[in-house]
Amino acid sequence: MAPVIIAGGGIGGLVLALMLHRRGIACQVREAAPAVRPLGVGINILPHAVAELAELDLLDALDTISIRTRTLTYMTQRGQTIWHEPRGCYAGHAVPQISAHRGRLQSLLWQTAQARLGLGAVRADARVIGATQDAASVTVTVRTADGETSEMTGHALIGADGIHSMLRAALLGDDSPMRWNGIQMWRGAVDWPAFGSRDEMIIAGDATAKLVFYPIAPGSTSDRRLTNWVVYARIADASTMPPGRESWSARGAFAEFARLIEGFALPMVDIPALASATAEIFRYPMCDRDPLPVWTQGRITLLGDAAHSMYPVGSNGASQAILDARCLADCLTEGDVPAALAQYEAERQPVTTAIVHSNRVGGPERVIDLIAARAPAGFDRLETVATADELAAIVRGYASLAGFAAPSGAIAIQARS
Ligand SMILES: Cc1cc2nc3c(=O)[nH]c(=O)nc-3n(C[C@H](O)[C@H](O)[C@H](O)COP(=O)(O)OP(=O)(O)OC[C@H]3O[C@@H](n4cnc5c(N)ncnc54)[C@H](O)[C@@H]3O)c2cc1C
Repeated sequence: MAPVIIAGGGIGGLVLALMLHRRGIACQVREAAPAVRPLGVGINILPHAVAELAELDLLDALDTISIRTRTLTYMTQRGQTIWHEPRGCYAGHAVPQISAHRGRLQSLLWQTAQARLGLGAVRADARVIGATQDAASVTVTVRTADGETSEMTGHALIGADGIHSMLRAALLGDDSPMRWNGIQMWRGAVDWPAFGSRDEMIIAGDATAKLVFYPIAPGSTSDRRLTNWVVYARIADASTMPPGRESWSARGAFAEFARLIEGFALPMVDIPALASATAEIFRYPMCDRDPLPVWTQGRITLLGDAAHSMYPVGSNGASQAILDARCLADCLTEGDVPAALAQYEAERQPVTTAIVHSNRVGGPERVIDLIAARAPAGFDRLETVATADELAAIVRGYASLAGFAAPSGAIAIQARS
């Protein structure tokens, strides 16, 4: 049978390829980048998505390149704990939450897909530039960096081509602009002394500026870790026009945000020192797109960021792409392609739309905004500012919405003052 063609060899496209291969469904991946290089910085995979990677026998390999996240703590700018909870296996899930370098994760998936599907099935320097379909098949046009074009025929086309999806724009006619909320992010990863239990994730700040940091891989010595950090702050009013095209590789500089982090005082990290020691700082505006009501047209559908780009709060971008892949792979085993794609969309569109909307208002990080609004100068006792139930409703509510709530009764989630 003609293959399923996947446009985009990012996290979602590659996981889909591995899942289809497992189900005996032929597929071909075409990736626009001339070569897959370890681009990006830190990314989190939540336990429900890690379970899918474990089912693909990837857990051992993941353990060699990543960190099993033990806890997540939300803090004020001055380091007072608002919420502290175990994550992944430590919260009773069967598998861990994983913090990884996004580029190393993509490289691992790429090499695994090439090894399992064959080199010819997973190709770089192959940008999908157009597609047509009829009742029986899809014809896809692919172009190399040299301008050479070729055509291939498949029985379905999946647009896993990321936030600037060509398929979303060209085939589904969605030319809506990116939406920018006025927040700029600066990100980096640096070899840094391990802190706390060596596998903690910290998110601290107030309503205007936040810091996220967590280890993503072993460091140069046993007491160091490759540590990912993100500083983000509001620099403009929300508008539909971000400051320049949002690119994952746009460079930033410490001087651009030094003033914005002056109010931070966290016991476990000297942020200016961390940022100054980082060789490559990236700048990225916090953007998403309005959720699409329809992802599918006949034999063509979207997956991952192409379908539902979301603000990177709540660690959900890659995880939801992986869950999309699982759902789509299962649907495609049913046979009739248009019906399978429609079924996939019906299952995944409402869930991911709800997460896009939740992330727009801060997702679980709203606990930080809540405390900052009620106690801007800090607190003596947290419970006089917000009840544990109030905080739990935000954090656990988000986990339930996004599908990774800890097994009932298995953990003690706690707020500490
Ligand atoms: C270079 C890069 C760096 C990133 N860094 C981070 C990071 O540090 N932290 C983080 O949280 N998220 C990062 N992301 C985003 C993150 O990978 C996604 O939000 C998430 O994993 C969902 O994955 P996805 O497969 O939908 O999209 P992506 O992982 O973005 O993959 C999309 C893929 O499609 C390819 N592509 C685009 N257009 C075409 C086309 N016309 N034909 C064929 N291929 C095409 C792209 O080159 C890319 O490889 C990065 C994305 C990219 C592309």
